[in-house]
Amino acid sequence: MLASLSIGIAILDSSGCVVRVNEAWRLAAAEGVFGEHHAVVGQSYLDECRRAEARGFDAARELRQGIERVLARRTRTFRSQFVSQTRDRWLEIVVDILKHEAGGAVISVADVTERRLDEKTAEATRGHTAHLGRASMMSEIASAIAGEIKQPVTAIQLNALAGATLLGAPQTDLEAVWSDSREAWQMFKDIYDYASRASGVIEHVDQHVHRQGGNGAIVDLGETCRSAVRLVEHEAALRGARIEVDIDAHAPAIAGDAIEMQQIAMSLLLNALDAVSESSERVIAIGVISRGAEVEMYVRDTGPGLSPKVRQHLFESFFTTKEGGLGMGLIIVRSIVERHRGRVIGEDAANGGAIFRVHLPVS
Ligand code: ADP
Repeated sequence: MLASLSIGIAILDSSGCVVRVNEAWRLAAAEGVFGEHHAVVGQSYLDECRRAEARGFDAARELRQGIERVLARRTRTFRSQFVSQTRDRWLEIVVDILKHEAGGAVISVADVTERRLDEKTAEATRGHTAHLGRASMMSEIASAIAGEIKQPVTAIQLNALAGATLLGAPQTDLEAVWSDSREAWQMFKDIYDYASRASGVIEHVDQHVHRQGGNGAIVDLGETCRSAVRLVEHEAALRGARIEVDIDAHAPAIAGDAIEMQQIAMSLLLNALDAVSESSERVIAIGVISRGAEVEMYVRDTGPGLSPKVRQHLFESFFTTKEGGLGMGLIIVRSIVERHRGRVIGEDAANGGAIFRVHLPVS
């Protein structure tokens, strides 16, 4: 059994002496991942750790102390991850009590380099997505605010203009009144000028935030879905929800920004997770369907669905029914989709719950 295991195993007696090692352990030692005498049966493994410590391999001290604690039965398990002496691998070492009346310990070592790299990539993607999320959130908020104040500022301008015109109109024969009102006229003119300036700033912000578009790369929406699912999997598990993925392998690619597409999928998935959290059945389906000149990416859930009020305001900025919600998620989704010349629809699914469909033109 030991020989067939792909993880390295060493068995130590109660004094820390190596009693037996398996093939995988020997192989790892031969590659120099631990130290030269690492796999020698009959040698004290604690001494081997000390020698590695003396060579400046700090992780060896931590490991030795862990083994000592397990041998002394002060702890059942010791677990640690460290970089190999060759500095190119990540290793996970687990030391367990050997269930034997004479005492001892079992050490297992696994190469977790791939896993750590995957985690790192996922983390970087998460970071990038979060950053992009914040950036597009800011631009959408800026744009929403710009939209909200554009109208009153324009009203101020027009009123100032009207006021000035009224004052300046040749309506009296009294030069005195006119000279009196010159000051008021100047005030109206100032109001008009200030409002014009504000309006210019708003216009500038609005144009600026909508300037950047998709970078026109080829995006496989199936991959988008799969990677978005990977990023929310943990959250889904915590909430007791299951995510089903159904990708049409023949669906063509679209042209756009892969990270932005992932952001759309993530937003819809997170909304779906929020929705199913209220239900007893917690299933989310995400998928890609080929629809002629368009590709559809959908997210369906078994939540409460969309009430008429929610449906009416769904894509409005700052509309939220959640405590602590911001109400910007869907508007960002729509703005990204529209920049990619697509459209997004939110409706009730046939069997209850909601479904959001994103249609994008084929590349
Ligand atoms: P937020 O998630 O911050 O509320 P969103 O713009 O993403 O902002 O969503 C706006 C609102 O739309 C939500 O508060 C919710 O009422 C509704 N909604 C979004 N997705 C779903 C869904 N899958 N099921 C039911 N309601 C949803």
